[in-house]
Amino acid sequence: MRLGFSHRSLAAAALCLLLSSCGNEPTSVNSAAAAGTAPQQTYQWKLITSWPKNLPALGTTPEFFAKIVDEMSGGRMKIRVFGANELVGGLEVFDAVSSGVAEIGHSGAYYWQGKIAGTPFFSTIPFGLTGVEMNAWLDYGGGKELWREIYEPFNLYPTRGGNSGTQMFGWFNKEINSLEDIKGLKMRIPGLGGEVFSRAGGLPVTMQVSDVFTAMQTGALDATEFVGPYNDLSAGYHTIASYYYYPGWHEPGSTIELVFNKEKLDALPNDLRAIVLNAAEVMNQKLYDEYTALNNKALQTLINEHGVQLRELPKDVLDEFRRLSAEVVAELADTDETTRRIYESYSSFQRGVENYHAISEEAYIDARRDQD
Ligand code: CA
Repeated sequence: MRLGFSHRSLAAAALCLLLSSCGNEPTSVNSAAAAGTAPQQTYQWKLITSWPKNLPALGTTPEFFAKIVDEMSGGRMKIRVFGANELVGGLEVFDAVSSGVAEIGHSGAYYWQGKIAGTPFFSTIPFGLTGVEMNAWLDYGGGKELWREIYEPFNLYPTRGGNSGTQMFGWFNKEINSLEDIKGLKMRIPGLGGEVFSRAGGLPVTMQVSDVFTAMQTGALDATEFVGPYNDLSAGYHTIASYYYYPGWHEPGSTIELVFNKEKLDALPNDLRAIVLNAAEVMNQKLYDEYTALNNKALQTLINEHGVQLRELPKDVLDEFRRLSAEVVAELADTDETTRRIYESYSSFQRGVENYHAISEEAYIDARRDQD
């Protein structure tokens, strides 16, 4: 049960009192005065997330971020991490960081499509960029500048805070042998992927993750997506479904955002500002690497110890999803002038990187696989 906003504000105020300092208010000085040196301000910040506390990778990496910021700042910046619903609900991160209830949030840009139409481009697009390609577009292709532009009116400064890599399509209680099997299928699949699924004849359902298990058991849902083997094994999805489908065309490389309250970030001394922003970059790569390193081990456990049936989506299904995705994303681009500019930057980058990856990563991986 979530608290109402006013109660949360009270809770936040109470927490501020408890911590004896909030936001950019410097805390009292340590023993510097006794040592005869100039006092250094210390900061106590809050980092809220959209994930359960300590969920592997998504939940544990913010704790790692807090630890390295503490170390690099020599203890001048302490960050306390809150899981979803500990301070605010998981889908209230944007508003809470914008208003200063917390200074930092770890979430996904596509959750905020109702506020800013173009946000899915900064997390993931069906049949769009992979994780490696997202990192490149954001840093070198104009992505981060566009992202900052659309978040600035909300007093927010977004950075990359991880990537899931290519996800799985998800967990099914029915086999998919052709497009006909998508018709009438009830699946928890949010966002643009859900819209594509709907146009293919499926019935996308929006549901809290916590309600999915019962819904799958009672038949209210036939299928659900989540992340990939590493997270899905720990969450126990193999206990409610037998078939595990790939590839995750709907989330080919989801960027996780680490978003700062811009006023609070700008008010930091230059060295602490550099520390938190560079720690975000370390976090971005570390989270991605954790998935890359551990997904296969979890997949083998799912198959060999839990009897999960691994299945590839049939070609006609993928072909139709790809056709419909282009339609849905082109319609999104027509929303307004800003979304059009984001779409053009993103799709132009995708054409270029696809062209080179066809003769580099793709050609190499094909060649590697074909050698017996
Ligand atoms: Ca997902």
